Amino acid sequence: MKPMGAIPSDFRGLPLTIGGRSIAELTEHTPVFVYDFGIVADRIARFRGAFTGVDLHYAVKANPYGPLLAAMAPLVDGFDIASAGELAMVAGLRRAVSFAGPGKTDAELDAAIRAAVTINLESESEADRALAIADRAGVRPRLAVRVNPDFELRGSGMRMGGRASPFGVDADRAAALVRRIVAAGADWRGFHIFAGSQALDAAAIIDSQARTLDLAARLADDVGTPPLVNLGGGFGIPYFPNELLIDIAAIGQALRERLAALPASLVGTRFAIELGRWLVGEAGVYLTRVIDRKESKGETFLVCDGGMNHQLAASGNLGTVVRRNYPIAIATAAPDAPREVVSVVGPLCTPLDRLGDQVELPVAHPGDVIAVFMAGAYGLTASPQAFLGHPAPAEILVGA
Ligand SMILES: *Cc1c(COP(=O)(O)O)cnc(C)c1O
Repeated sequence: MKPMGAIPSDFRGLPLTIGGRSIAELTEHTPVFVYDFGIVADRIARFRGAFTGVDLHYAVKANPYGPLLAAMAPLVDGFDIASAGELAMVAGLRRAVSFAGPGKTDAELDAAIRAAVTINLESESEADRALAIADRAGVRPRLAVRVNPDFELRGSGMRMGGRASPFGVDADRAAALVRRIVAAGADWRGFHIFAGSQALDAAAIIDSQARTLDLAARLADDVGTPPLVNLGGGFGIPYFPNELLIDIAAIGQALRERLAALPASLVGTRFAIELGRWLVGEAGVYLTRVIDRKESKGETFLVCDGGMNHQLAASGNLGTVVRRNYPIAIATAAPDAPREVVSVVGPLCTPLDRLGDQVELPVAHPGDVIAVFMAGAYGLTASPQAFLGHPAPAEILVGA
């Protein structure tokens, strides 16, 4: 038997319900992603409690499901997008939008500049293209400089700083770029500094935010007070049994102390934190139905109607070195059902398609429903949906 991740506390207790809805109600079509907006609203409220006066931006790439974006819009201060496709998704939601990401095409820059979106510039050459496109469109562009920080977020699942990077302009070249875009007449919106992702250690985030503020202050001494500094995010969520919830009260307290003692060059600057995974990751459950139950060489397999084609991360094939079991449950099991050790696999003809490797679960049969937790961020849109041609899963937002 292999250990399984911990089911988020929002879902403990059987029979499983999501946002007050029964599994039978939610699984008319399987596979299905169900997102509980009550959990997202709770995370937003926790953020507001810990980070008074700091703007909250949602990183759309974590989960771009339309009804979810619409429900979040009144509760966040901005959306961070990374493509023209995401720009279309947030159009009409009446929130500040900023556009980061390398490789923005001329067409994307044109659409974003005309929509008054702030472009987080990833390079000097992108700045030149943005200025030329804005000039042709007759628009004063809103431009911020994304800085490749000269440090990294310690303990981060994905390191994005302290090294050569496709993201942002190296810190020692950022001031020169600001001067260039200001001289060209652009509306300079400030700095975007993102040092990493999926960190669970509050001390590492506190350290990274302190270094980010130091870097912003050094740059501001050079080029003047930025209207906004986007401090990045990187708040992680616990997927596995040895991982703990991140202490955002401690992070908020440390940031408040720093913001209360800002150097003169940052007085009047607004600060934003951009989060994806931490806001929505725990709110999603992927429900897939057992199609077949089979034995092979003494091992029992539950074969489901969906797998890595929809929830790649749970199969261990999205940015992990060692495959570990995500938290899963038999959503339709009676609380007192006998238990057994099984492997839960999807329908794809590849051994990579495994949602649970030798986990202890209540005995299940064809027709039962498997719940894979922690499916709210980097789920459907981060998975190879077209691989093997199975139908798209449904998505349902509850509790909005
Ligand atoms: C992906 C991304 C985020 C969101 O990261 P999470 O780990 O999901 O919070 C925020 N900012 C930028 C620039 C990103 O690329």
